[in-house]
Amino acid sequence: MLAQRTALLKGSGTAAARAAAKEAVDAGVQVVDLTAGEIWTDLAPTIRDGAIAAIDKGINRYTDTVGLMDLREALGRKLTAETGQAWGASEIAVTAGAKQALFNAAMVLLDPGDEVIIPAPYWTTFPAQVQIAGGVPVHVDTRANGFVPRIEDIVAAITPRTRAIVINTPNNPTGTVYDRTLLRALGELAIERDLWIIFDECYRDFIHTDVGHHSIVSVIPEARSRTVIVNAFSKALALTGWRIGYLAGPDHLVRSVTALQSHTTSNPNVIAQHAVLHHLQNTDGTFEARLQNQLTAARNMGLGVLSGLSRIPVPTAMGGFYFYLDIKNLVAPEPWNLVIGDRDVDMLVREMIAKAGVATVSGTAFGDPFGMRLSYGIPWDRLQEGLGRLVGFLNAWS
Ligand code: PLP
Repeated sequence: MLAQRTALLKGSGTAAARAAAKEAVDAGVQVVDLTAGEIWTDLAPTIRDGAIAAIDKGINRYTDTVGLMDLREALGRKLTAETGQAWGASEIAVTAGAKQALFNAAMVLLDPGDEVIIPAPYWTTFPAQVQIAGGVPVHVDTRANGFVPRIEDIVAAITPRTRAIVINTPNNPTGTVYDRTLLRALGELAIERDLWIIFDECYRDFIHTDVGHHSIVSVIPEARSRTVIVNAFSKALALTGWRIGYLAGPDHLVRSVTALQSHTTSNPNVIAQHAVLHHLQNTDGTFEARLQNQLTAARNMGLGVLSGLSRIPVPTAMGGFYFYLDIKNLVAPEPWNLVIGDRDVDMLVREMIAKAGVATVSGTAFGDPFGMRLSYGIPWDRLQEGLGRLVGFLNAWS
């Protein structure tokens, strides 16, 4: 028998979607894969140079548990520029990607039974980590309000056991960017009801509309002492495999995270840390600008193709690199909230891989049986081809 905890371990829904796409490819289907949570691009030259220099110097030892002091100081300067407030190394922990930063936060913040409010659709790992840490995820549905959480819905979800709220902007999977008014209201609510804020801004560099990204601590500085900021270089520099992320929060929280991490993974990979440090010290912003431009261009082209969808609203795609389709008209004709019927999104996704050769992620991975996520971080011609096939398939689907 394995531990009861294993009952909670379903495995990531997005990883399962990637595996389904790969299986179809192995079976000989020509698949355009729109499942990826990462960007197709080359390696930033500063990262390459930093890593090679570290190897040439023979660097091979443990670093401080939560990262090289120089790197934490550089991240402090980055956060200072991003928030307009001063950040020091003692408030920052370097982690193996944003995933470990979020897991650390859940482990040091939650007691058994503590509730965490997560706007839905949500990135699949948020509720899973809360559960592994002994907490209880509480979902607040944002679908009826264009994927923007309503304060009254969040207030209604708060109980005496509520400990934290997860804010993810730009949002995965919906692409929504929260504006200042909403961030202020969320911050005020957290203060009033004594909640922690877990602020995941992994997609902050990819904004495609006039609604800019704002850090919650610059919108409402009074909330800083109860906020854990989470970010990573996985998306920002297309470095998913290098596993460098970080969290920023009050000193005492970072001390607990350090103790926790000292017993789990120790420091993140030392060569990757040196590479990111070298990047932060030497970047002129060209690589970042190119990535942002690549994604905005792909997003605009993609929206043009998706405007051909006959029964599905064109997504807003304000930030990040996902289109999120509301497909309730296809899988659940009116009254969609009552009857799902014998067709569901998982079936549709499977059929679309087999018959149209386009792989997407079912909304069920994000707590939404009426959604579908498409990544536009892939090469231009593949994207155009895949979206064209998708539009043809979905328009004909009955
Ligand atoms: N947070 C969000 C919202 C994400 O979408 C992802 C990755 O998809 C992560 C965190 C995890 O990022 P990392 O690869 O840095 O662990």
